[in-house]
Amino acid sequence: MTPLTGSCLCGGVRFEVTEPFDRVGVCHCENCKRISGGFGTVSARARTDSIRVLEGAELLRSYTPEEGTAKTFCSRCGSNLFGGGWPEFDTASVRLPSFGLEYERKPEAHSFVRSVAAWEDLPEDGLPRFDTRAT
Ligand SMILES: [Zn+2]
Ligand SMILES: [Zn+2]
Repeated sequence: MTPLTGSCLCGGVRFEVTEPFDRVGVCHCENCKRISGGFGTVSARARTDSIRVLEGAELLRSYTPEEGTAKTFCSRCGSNLFGGGWPEFDTASVRLPSFGLEYERKPEAHSFVRSVAAWEDLPEDGLPRFDTRAT
């Protein structure tokens, strides 16, 4: 496949993904709400080996919450780019907004719906919902 190119808001970090994603999902956990400033994160699962940082590796910073895996963001603009423990684990999450508005694959599941906020309504999109991690 043609590598998919992603970037952060300021454009300082650019990366590519060279293999198709396993799955795409929405995570509603509290960590994802706090790092995103919204309902959570929308991410694709990829093999860590298929993710290559092309530019701006020096801008990347990671934060590992007490419960959960490392989240990696651009230290200049704050865009959250990778999760799921990247780059330590074999698979990682890539935040879908990194690919811009034209990327077409849609989420296939909602995970951590036990952490839906009091101000949040889950969409009636017919997708499977998981209390914790999607299986
Ligand atoms: Zn940036
Ligand atoms: Zn999450």
